[in-house]
Amino acid sequence: MRPEVLNPVFADTKTLEGVGPKLAKPLEKLGLSTVKDVAYHLPERFVTRRAITNLDEGAEGEQVIVALTPTEHRAPYNPGRGPYRVLAQDEAGNIAALTYFGRASYTAKKQLPVGEKRWVAGRLDRYGDMLQIVHPDHVESESSAPMGRTTEAVYRLSEGLTQPRIASLAEQALERMPDLPEWIEPGQFEREAWPSWGEAMKVAHQGPNEPARARLAYDELLANSLALLLVKAEGRRRKGQALAGDGRMREKLALPFEMTGAQKRSIAEIEGDLQQEAPMLRLLQGDVGAGKTVVALAAMLIACEAGKQAALLAPTEILARQHFETLRTMAAPTGVEIALLTGRAKGKERESILIGLLDGSIDILVGTHAIFQDSVSYKDLGLVVIDEQHRFGVAQRLALAGKGKRAPHTLAMTATPIPRSLTLAQYGEMDVSRLDELPPGRQAIETLVFPQGRSEEMVAAMGRHLATGQQAYWVCPMVREAGGAFASADIAAAEARYAELKERFGDDVVLVHGQLRPEIKDANMERFVQGEAKLLIATTVIEVGVDVPTATLMVIEQAERFGLAQLHQLRGRVGRGSEKSRCVLLRGDELSETGKKRLTYVKDSQDGFYLAEKDLELRGGGELLGTRQSGEAAFRLADLEQVQRLLPTAHADARLLLERDGGLTSPRGEAARILLYLFERDWGVQLLRGG
Ligand code: ADP
Ligand code: MG
Repeated sequence: MRPEVLNPVFADTKTLEGVGPKLAKPLEKLGLSTVKDVAYHLPERFVTRRAITNLDEGAEGEQVIVALTPTEHRAPYNPGRGPYRVLAQDEAGNIAALTYFGRASYTAKKQLPVGEKRWVAGRLDRYGDMLQIVHPDHVESESSAPMGRTTEAVYRLSEGLTQPRIASLAEQALERMPDLPEWIEPGQFEREAWPSWGEAMKVAHQGPNEPARARLAYDELLANSLALLLVKAEGRRRKGQALAGDGRMREKLALPFEMTGAQKRSIAEIEGDLQQEAPMLRLLQGDVGAGKTVVALAAMLIACEAGKQAALLAPTEILARQHFETLRTMAAPTGVEIALLTGRAKGKERESILIGLLDGSIDILVGTHAIFQDSVSYKDLGLVVIDEQHRFGVAQRLALAGKGKRAPHTLAMTATPIPRSLTLAQYGEMDVSRLDELPPGRQAIETLVFPQGRSEEMVAAMGRHLATGQQAYWVCPMVREAGGAFASADIAAAEARYAELKERFGDDVVLVHGQLRPEIKDANMERFVQGEAKLLIATTVIEVGVDVPTATLMVIEQAERFGLAQLHQLRGRVGRGSEKSRCVLLRGDELSETGKKRLTYVKDSQDGFYLAEKDLELRGGGELLGTRQSGEAAFRLADLEQVQRLLPTAHADARLLLERDGGLTSPRGEAARILLYLFERDWGVQLLRGG
């Protein structure tokens, strides 16, 4: 049970004045569902504005407040394309264009009637020989007086929210925050000159305040480290079992290739861990195509040789199926029994798998999260392998770890080349094996960048490619909006591209995206993997793991909308066979500087670690730490710089606290429990109670 003092903190956002179902939605989109979330929704930045009476007084790029009277509305020629502009003049008759894109134009129509004076606040820019303000931050009626030079918070918004609205909600939320006991050691305060929690929360909304922001980021890092250490301590309390393989199954593996040095080394490291009684907690890191699967198989065979079972958890249905097929083929000569369990297995099929797991006739289970439902019990689970670990929360990992009579060993695999400074934050104190060597004979993938306008040419080139009998991918962006649904415009675009290419190339074309019914998606995927279908139109569902060596061309539409790491992963789907492979990035016209750089880096390099570093430079780690919106992010408050600067201290402090007070029962320990709840790391607290 959550400490009572936190009740108002965890109250639903709907308890805030003015928040009904209509406003709750855009808040939800930002991931704000409780009062605390709103209070912790800190400003992205602050602007200082100057009130001017004459547009000429404003410098280009300056944030201003100015009284303007709309004279004309200019709707785009073609609705939905191009911006909506409102021309407006100041008292001296200078004209500025107020520019709106997309649905924001509805707001403009309402807020800016012709002939009525308005206070407009925003950034002055140039548009041809006119001044313009793109998406003004505020439009107020004449009666509300402008502020002079004022500092104003700028919050991240979602559609349906405005800056004044979210600012007033933040204010309300802050008023509801109780006094909380302090979890930070007094010495730490003195060292850093940090404000108290309540003070830090307040001032962080009022202006740029480094100590306040640092303190709150530290809190988050401390909570994370505490929780990870609690997990680790729990793991140590539960005994594992030493698994000694005798090699009899691994000997029989019929691999069509020689393992790389890195693969052999990783397997040896894993084998060493498995021989210990303490449960293994190891991360296998290797770029796309580095050959993680066979390492996982070797690890699972060690468990089988020791008479135990192993489970492999995949992030998607498609990958689970593919792993199942691959493992079954590779392991056929060893005689181990491998089964597949996904959410779709029903009735008899599911029943017989459950029985096989219980009586031990199934040695290896491959599947999606369905493999750790309560109804699934193992005879003797010795090893859990998790593919693409970052997609799973620690809580899920624990649920799976709870399956064995004794704690099973855990091997997590990821293609995300996480720099060392971030591994600690993401994975706690896992040991790391790196596959830093690609299998021999891989050809470099030639990467080209073309303007999106040349997609017609690309379709023709695709025709020539398919005529040679080789396969190809055509990737369309599909963005999941916060809240889970895919953007409908993206679905429409992918479907339209599919229709067009099918028209051109006939039945050789299949479509796979996240909105399709799973059976259809799998059937389509299967046709492509079997080589019956030659061209796969896809969204990012192919991002991880799919392995079709005869696919040698990939076209990525609107490539600028993908992240650097994502592009690298996508591209890794080609270049898997002996034929030369190409990847064509189609880019839109309106490309930001960062977008341009991103495409250049991907074009020029195929080194995952190099690209990860560039990614860090460009995005400040957002991508590596997971996307903030999707809720996969490790941290909401701490940015990359803060992680690097504060994490070592936070981690050491967490360790010290637990050494002194492992049960978190002292006053400071109690405060730390509150902290864990505050940052929703309460799985750490749950463990305490269990133990
Ligand atoms: P990852 O999961 O690390 O992205 P995979 O395990 O899917 O990579 O391996 C990619 C491809 O390389 C597969 O077709 C696999 O059979 C092949 N492969 C793996 N190890 C080797 C090796 N040592 N030599 C040649 N090919 C290999
Ligand atoms: Mg893989």
